[in-house]
Amino acid sequence: PGLASSEKTRLDEASVPQSEKKLDFVLREELKVWCWLPDAKWVLGKIQSVSGDDAHVLLADNKVLAVSTENLLPANPDILDGVDDLMQLSYLNEPSVLHILQNRYFRNMIYTKAGPVLVSLNPFKDVHLHGNDLIASYRERLVDKPHVFAIADTAYSEMMRDGTNQSIIISGESGAGKTETAKFAMQYLAALGAGSGIEDEVLQTNLILESFGNAKTLRNDNSSRFGKLTEIYFSDAGKICGSKVETFLLEKSRVVQRANGERSYHVFYQLCAGAPPNLKDRLNLKAADEYEYLKQSNCLTIDSVDDALSFHKLTEALDIVKISKEDQENAFSMLATVLWLGNIGFSVIDNENHVEVDLSEGVTNAARLLGCEVPDLILALSTCKHETNNAVQKLTISQAIDTRDALAKSIYTSLFYWLVGLINKSLEVGNGHTERSISILDIYGFESFNRNSFEQICINYANERLQHHFNRHLFKLQQEEYIQNGIDWTNVDFVDNTECLNLFEKEPIGLLSLLDEESAVPKATDMTFANKLRQHLGGNPCFKGEKGGAFKICHFAGEVLYNTIGFLEKNRDQLHSDSIQLLSSCSHQVPRLFASHMLEQYQPTSLIQQLGRIDSQKQSVGAKFKDQLFMLMQRLEKTTPHFIRCIRPNDQRLPGIYDYDLVLQQLKCSGILEIVRISRSGYSDRITHQQFAERYGNFLLETAISQDPLSVSTLILHKFNIQPDMYHLGHSKIFFRAGQIAALEEVRQQT
Ligand code: ATP
Ligand code: MG
Repeated sequence: PGLASSEKTRLDEASVPQSEKKLDFVLREELKVWCWLPDAKWVLGKIQSVSGDDAHVLLADNKVLAVSTENLLPANPDILDGVDDLMQLSYLNEPSVLHILQNRYFRNMIYTKAGPVLVSLNPFKDVHLHGNDLIASYRERLVDKPHVFAIADTAYSEMMRDGTNQSIIISGESGAGKTETAKFAMQYLAALGAGSGIEDEVLQTNLILESFGNAKTLRNDNSSRFGKLTEIYFSDAGKICGSKVETFLLEKSRVVQRANGERSYHVFYQLCAGAPPNLKDRLNLKAADEYEYLKQSNCLTIDSVDDALSFHKLTEALDIVKISKEDQENAFSMLATVLWLGNIGFSVIDNENHVEVDLSEGVTNAARLLGCEVPDLILALSTCKHETNNAVQKLTISQAIDTRDALAKSIYTSLFYWLVGLINKSLEVGNGHTERSISILDIYGFESFNRNSFEQICINYANERLQHHFNRHLFKLQQEEYIQNGIDWTNVDFVDNTECLNLFEKEPIGLLSLLDEESAVPKATDMTFANKLRQHLGGNPCFKGEKGGAFKICHFAGEVLYNTIGFLEKNRDQLHSDSIQLLSSCSHQVPRLFASHMLEQYQPTSLIQQLGRIDSQKQSVGAKFKDQLFMLMQRLEKTTPHFIRCIRPNDQRLPGIYDYDLVLQQLKCSGILEIVRISRSGYSDRITHQQFAERYGNFLLETAISQDPLSVSTLILHKFNIQPDMYHLGHSKIFFRAGQIAALEEVRQQT
């Protein structure tokens, strides 16, 4: 069921070709043709005869079934089993598309075109489709099979041809293969733009960021826990001359807490397993299972992953990206600090639950690595100072644990963003020439677990935004443009997620503003927040209040049950001023640097102040994330987009399993069939009269070129004998059916 929405475009029956729905023609002619029978899944059969409303259908096991013709769907002839593009199917219906994809999947053909979108099925094994030989074949245009390389090639060619910036936007659920696909795209671009030597550095940034920003979740052993836009810059000659990574909202809670069976960020385990002896000595490093922050979720290793080897590769990558040995040591030292902080325990000393810090290896190591005195660290973790009168108050056990965890989390996120800064500095374009670029977007995929919290709602909100961008480009803009240009067009229906975005973004009563409002109320609790949501959002069809502090949201990719526990705290994301003060007083430079960044980003509060009054000036995590996503979308709007849709074919993460329902659900929510439908009846290329006349005008005689662009364009169309049904001359643009521009380009390049 689609998410009903106020902006839902008209469903015009005429836009669905008759052939897709019924077998009328076939039945009238009494042909023996293949068809799909409804069952738990669709089953392939062959019509033998028709009597009245029933057809007799022969099945694979030689049984013949009488089935109402109403329930049958036409199947494509076998010859179409090999099509690369769903647009080529004679019959476009769910079972046919699922069948084609399955057929290709089992033959290791993981890529299929769906009109303008590349569909990629995660093979969960090496399908030998990404070697240098294939890169060369795509560069030389020796193959034209759908591939992420082909997408990257198109983006590159368009950038070089038109001078416009491009984007490759990769979407799909968690574990669908976005990050791997993004890396293949970069690998191809690096090969195309090789020359300056910087391309290897660009590729190595992926490895570093995965170490620090990916983790094992229940869905994916290498799940991205941050969003990433990698912008690659090219010189006029088409060589890579630099790159910039922009990251979005790293999941910080993972450092101190996560679901059983998941891991914290890879780099912790890599460091523990792979640090050379002298580094281990300097950090006083132990094995991963000696650290509370790592062992708490009962998962220390990942099958077939060698953390020690990964550490070795990480340091190599850091070297290649020219992160100095000193900065590398600083980074490792901060990682060890986080681990030792987690081993600091507290003892309750009175019946009001006030605590003292246990003197342990944890405290001494953390203090030494930070470069502060042990008593200062103890003070910062177990007491808070009143900002005006400096009175010292002891913390309770839960306050002390929160303070310790907040410090660990902010050290880790500071480290992450600091590292991204170092990488960007290293890859900065020397002479400031950054006009041409290709951006690759790889964010965390849609998630739905048994327990979903603030992190999931941020991730899923980002995916809603991205889906909106996808819809806008593939449905809305295209159809609007047809109508504006006088093309006789009936709209194709699609699942519009505007209503769900409104649920998040509407002001003043959207989910994010209600969250901010409640976060500013000192006495508010997660329960009062849940009530507030129920009270104000009950009218939105995408929202359902549930028992206790829970609520459901109908996302474009499915319904998710969230629990409000921790929402307010995570949205406020406050750091105590005592912690920041501690960091700024450290003798080591990096914690001091972190402290100054924290002061810019967070408005620190003393705990006492926090308990009484919440500073509403500070931008909340939710509001900041929303702004970031808006800016991201604005930037993407200025590029020519290329879309890749990754699909997770099974939940077991194993090769060779094609879960029909799971694939269908992902195809449905991404609107793949509708995209193919639009593309089939539409025009795949468009170009303004002006551009067209400029580009191909030199095939005409001198005198013709002096005319206005529209006349020149018409002359060119005649000159090349382009058939009237292959193009539409619009008010401002010429629209072409697939293949026409490519043919013109070929002529142009040969002359
Ligand atoms: P998340 O949203 O959680 O970050 P994702 O969509 O980025 O998920 P990936 O990390 O790219 O998913 O893929 C998950 C795993 O699937 C990979 O670690 C790899 O094992 C496998 N995989 C994905 N794509 C491919 C591919 N093209 N070839 C082989 N294996 C793949
Ligand atoms: Mg990923």
